[in-house]
Amino acid sequence: MVEDGRALRFAIIGAGMAGVLSAIKLKGAGLTDFTVYEKADRVGGTWRENTYPGLSCDVPSHLYSYSFAPTPEWSHRFSPGDEIQGYFERVAHEHDIERQIRFGEAVTSCRYDDGTWHVETESGHRDDVDVVIAATGVLHHPKLPDIEGLDEFEGAMFHSARWDHDVRLDGARVGIVGTGSTAVQMVSALVGRVEKLSLFQRTAQWIMPQDNPPYSDDEKTEFRANPQRLAELRANLTQVFDTFANAIVDADSPEMKMIAGMCRDNLESNVRDPELREALRPDYQAACKRLIISPDFYDAIQQPNAELVTEAIERVEPNGVRTRDGRLHELDVLVLATGFKTDAFMRPMDVIGRDGESLAQAWSARPSAYMSISIPGFPNFFMLNGPNGPVGNFSLIEVAELQFGYIMQLLAPLRSGECREVSATRDAMERHEAARVEAVEKTVWVTGCRSWYLDDRGIPATWPWSFDRFRSEMHAPHPAAFEYR
Ligand code: NAP
Repeated sequence: MVEDGRALRFAIIGAGMAGVLSAIKLKGAGLTDFTVYEKADRVGGTWRENTYPGLSCDVPSHLYSYSFAPTPEWSHRFSPGDEIQGYFERVAHEHDIERQIRFGEAVTSCRYDDGTWHVETESGHRDDVDVVIAATGVLHHPKLPDIEGLDEFEGAMFHSARWDHDVRLDGARVGIVGTGSTAVQMVSALVGRVEKLSLFQRTAQWIMPQDNPPYSDDEKTEFRANPQRLAELRANLTQVFDTFANAIVDADSPEMKMIAGMCRDNLESNVRDPELREALRPDYQAACKRLIISPDFYDAIQQPNAELVTEAIERVEPNGVRTRDGRLHELDVLVLATGFKTDAFMRPMDVIGRDGESLAQAWSARPSAYMSISIPGFPNFFMLNGPNGPVGNFSLIEVAELQFGYIMQLLAPLRSGECREVSATRDAMERHEAARVEAVEKTVWVTGCRSWYLDDRGIPATWPWSFDRFRSEMHAPHPAAFEYR
């Protein structure tokens, strides 16, 4: 039994959106004994790593902000990536958490022993803590395509999340592999700059039309003067997103049909050439893959210097990409917008739980966790945006805030000294997982497409219920789902 009211020591892994949130919230709760470990030299996570032209967030900025740090200053409904990065840096600075971040320190192992997590970093730094919060992000490890000859390309080549800003784009012949959210944003941003843009499409995507107007000076002045207006705006956006979230977990819902209709109309009305229109028409239901929003992708791909290449890639050669029809698409720059390894989470970090079980063993089939937060046998180790959580077009900030509130409740008996460890029971996790796997059957994600939501069994690794249900689950942990020792 720990002493009554002992202050707990925390290690937070990652200084992205969720790590910064954790640090601020712990500090706000008077739990100031923590260190944030960040492998890079700045906060920001995905917004630090992704710097490709056209980067923005497909969740409106006034919703993609911390609830405790609204800002009247967002430039656009969907503000650009560097503005979002600036927001996280500013909030971290205003809450004075940088001095508790160890930058350039990648955590390599966490080992649990008798109530203490022994944390070790790449540089050999060691820390003994009571609680670990893994805020290591979801889409973090770039996935490179298995295409023959990639190494032989003599031009510049990089993954979308490793943009090389020294490479000249103006007047260059640029190829993009992939048609996900990343590639679509990039096409719109690049087509006006490059000599030729070739988009290598393996699978067509439904595109939801969505304007991105700037906020006028008058609007921002009003937001500054009247915080209530900001709160109302956020509440309205939350409602819109809830409608979407509820639609995609019910493939037959009228809202889902409405979304599909909007995507179809967008394609029919905005792509003039019938051949191109058919090439851009997906053969699966809208939102089966993560739905892409764009105000101008169809316009961009119809520019005279843009080409949609639907012929499969045969191999990459020194001068470009050769497609199966034998044609060589000559390129100066090749961008691999081919997504991320979505089941890595904090791996390859070595995590050893109670009884010597490793995370590698616990997750040998695939990642799982009770409520995405707690892994049986890994006490006092909590994840934000962990496996099988709500990732489908929500604000992951709201998700992380709700999860953090839940974790704080789990910590209450540790703080009071009633127990020294807490983790989900195996039974709770198995029941939760069984219910989840059953519920995904109703969702749009299983209606027949390939997507990064699907695990190795083809089961969506996501939250399959309404967002309200998520909120209600996060309201308070079920005591019987946890073992307190
Ligand atoms: P993605 O959605 O996983 O898309 C990867 C693309 O690469 C797909 O089009 C895929 O084709 C293609 N691809 C992969 N391997 C290939 C190969 N060997 N040959 C040809 N094509 C290949 O990745 P992403 O676009 O980076 O987006 C990932 C997620 O990041 C998004 O869904 C979203 O959650 C997030 N994101 C968000 C925003 C935002 O605005 N908030 C912006 C960008 C990204 P197939 O479709 O045929 O598999």
